[in-house]
Amino acid sequence: MTEPPDATGYRGPATLRLAADTGSFEVHADLRGKFEPADGRYHWYGRLAADASLAAAVGRGRAGGTLRTPAGTAQCELSDPDPWLRYRISGVSTPPFGIDPAAASAGPGTDDRASRVQRHLPAHVTVAVIGAGFGGLGAAVRLRQAGITDFVILERAAAVGGTWRDNSYPGCACDVPSHLYSYSFAPNPDWSRSFSPQPEIWRYLEDVADRYRLRDHLRLSAEVIRAQWDPATARWQLDTTVGSLTATVVIAAAGPLSEPSVPDIPGLDSFPGPVFHSARWDDAADLTGRRVAVIGTGASSIQLVPALQPAAAHLMLFQRTPAWVLPRRDRKITAAERWLYRRVPAAQRLARLAIYLGRESTVGAFTRWPGALRAVQRVASAHLARSIRDPELRARLTPRYVLGCKRILLSDDFYPALAQPNVQLVAAGLVKVDGPVLTGQDGTAVRADAIVFATGFVVTDVPVAHHLFDGNGVSLADSWHDDMAALRGTTVAGFPNLCLVIGPNTGLGHNSMVYMIESQLPYIEEYVRAVLGLGGRAAFDARADAQAQWNDRVQQRMARTVWATGGCRSWYLSAAGRNPVLWPASSWAFRRATTRLDLSEYRAIPAGTVSSAGHGAVSAGLPG
Ligand SMILES: Cc1cc2nc3c(=O)[nH]c(=O)nc-3n(C[C@H](O)[C@H](O)[C@H](O)COP(=O)(O)OP(=O)(O)OC[C@H]3O[C@@H](n4cnc5c(N)ncnc54)[C@H](O)[C@@H]3O)c2cc1C
Repeated sequence: MTEPPDATGYRGPATLRLAADTGSFEVHADLRGKFEPADGRYHWYGRLAADASLAAAVGRGRAGGTLRTPAGTAQCELSDPDPWLRYRISGVSTPPFGIDPAAASAGPGTDDRASRVQRHLPAHVTVAVIGAGFGGLGAAVRLRQAGITDFVILERAAAVGGTWRDNSYPGCACDVPSHLYSYSFAPNPDWSRSFSPQPEIWRYLEDVADRYRLRDHLRLSAEVIRAQWDPATARWQLDTTVGSLTATVVIAAAGPLSEPSVPDIPGLDSFPGPVFHSARWDDAADLTGRRVAVIGTGASSIQLVPALQPAAAHLMLFQRTPAWVLPRRDRKITAAERWLYRRVPAAQRLARLAIYLGRESTVGAFTRWPGALRAVQRVASAHLARSIRDPELRARLTPRYVLGCKRILLSDDFYPALAQPNVQLVAAGLVKVDGPVLTGQDGTAVRADAIVFATGFVVTDVPVAHHLFDGNGVSLADSWHDDMAALRGTTVAGFPNLCLVIGPNTGLGHNSMVYMIESQLPYIEEYVRAVLGLGGRAAFDARADAQAQWNDRVQQRMARTVWATGGCRSWYLSAAGRNPVLWPASSWAFRRATTRLDLSEYRAIPAGTVSSAGHGAVSAGLPG
């Protein structure tokens, strides 16, 4: 029986997934925890009731994984089984249960940090950050370093981590090497692989929240439903699932890839088995020995398919468009390397720089001379030919667009998995479901026990834009008319005192998004300082003409890129056929463009003035 969460933990059913992808188990957990003042982190622990299949998988050893309860998901470790094979389970940081503030602070031996983690929302804050992924946590660290401590981080989920909390599908890992795909200010010498797996990246972000003392600012399970600019008070009014507050500035870091996109397939409701998206992995669905249909051949699918193939009885992959795949060359980072990075941090900085420069050296081919990508295309063709001997299958896996037009995928095990006898490639999109029968656009019909949608995310119609409203009550989504645009990817005319982390045209096809996030942070800090410099009597709005000029320049550059000329229709393109997602130059150029806030691109609007996309408002002149 599930008991309501209390101050000390949780008792009830849970799903345990082992990190080594050796299966998921329905277990009964008895958990409790407390803050340890010594390290300032929440430590939780407990026992799992004896379970024969779990004991068979783990034996007397140790194992890591994730534990999901109805109240949340957390990383955990299993150890020390007792004579009845009841495993000890423990974890550090966000626990998979709620912490009741009143009881936690009242009990002996509890630290009042517990109550501060889940305490009620303040009536007003200087800055409200939306989202606790790489973007929101990075912004929060920057605010603290700038001495701005009156802020909250509003996160709809029960734990920090964003992408790396949500994408727990088997095989999930980054595709930019970990030494680069991490904050420059928080190097991790202990990455286990060049492309570290999802649990490790999630743990890294949990650690960042601890190391940079962000827990006090976090409000978990607090989804922002509506944030509206109030011109009378020059403040944002935010309504969340746990209450309301006002903020002088909002930093929206709600993620470019946080809302799964599931196509509307006729008959899907009639499917009798489990159906889920790769970013909402269902640990309870045991796919071992089942007929599994995977829909889509993008970045998640090529990681997922090799991980599922050995366990599935039959795997059917629905492919609308084939992707170009290059060798990944993932490898273990040796103990000696890790020792070196711990002892000589400069060595890790050098490794990071080398990866950055290596990737950055390719940017011209994407943005200026797409013809140069033909040479890389030959490498991808050879990679395909090495693994797929069947010429007919090879033909169906060969893209008809120039490499780079869609995201280039990296994998060493995707093609070998497709060559296995239990895998069937349906070279067509899924168009119909009728009970257990799935039909592709080419008429191919297959029977399946489970459907996994690896169909990506809602990208060009950013979900958070439907929750942000200007002073006239017009949503950012409506003001964008399906075609988003911002000034320097960060601020939007008509939406004063608002910053977007990974806003329009900040995405990369060739390098780390964490680099782009870190490029925005100094700009955002200056912007917040400029707003605070107005003393609360006015707000700070991007000029519509400056925003238009910026976007004209961006789109001019875009015209020459492979994303515009490569002959594909990618998820980067809006309904209008414009690319509002990617940055069409070097990441270094973006960093230069966001090094300083150019005050001439902004205007101050006195409190009480209704602003409409930079038109008709009284200009109060700019400070400085
Ligand atoms: C499977 C996968 C692999 C990837 N691999 C790479 C890679 O190797 N290299 C790379 O550069 N990029 C990669 N990316 C892109 C990745 O999304 C970014 O690198 C980065 O993680 C984005 O961070 P973020 O904080 O902006 O967004 P997210 O990590 O998505 O975090 C946004 C947070 O906002 C929260 N949120 C959303 N709406 C609300 C709301 N209304 N109220 C409160 N909270 C809200 C979400 O719950 C989430 O926690 C990958 C993406 C995916 C999906």
